[in-house]
Amino acid sequence: MTPSPVPQDATPAAPRTAVGAKDAARQGVLSAVRPDPQAGDGRTPVAWLHIVAPPSWSVTPSGRSWCRCGWDRTAIGRAAVQQLIEQHKQHRDACPLLHPQEGSKAA
Ligand SMILES: [Zn+2]
Repeated sequence: MTPSPVPQDATPAAPRTAVGAKDAARQGVLSAVRPDPQAGDGRTPVAWLHIVAPPSWSVTPSGRSWCRCGWDRTAIGRAAVQQLIEQHKQHRDACPLLHPQEGSKAA
């Protein structure tokens, strides 16, 4: 039984580790990049309407209507919120994301 003082296969594993980390990083990037499923085809939500209207008349209701196209309105007060709801409905009919115009027929 003669003890071997130095192991023969003591190759440094640094390059291997570096390659492995690089590979893992690339996979991480690939898995992080996903195609946007909300392409605005009319079925996915584009515009949102959020109303906060407590049942108590003593509390002032407020609301917000916003859209991916940049539409963003807020309303405070019962009458203003009702107007906001109407504006939101009208915007859904006129939103360029929900109704993409092909070409420039606007004129
Ligand atoms: Zn819009």
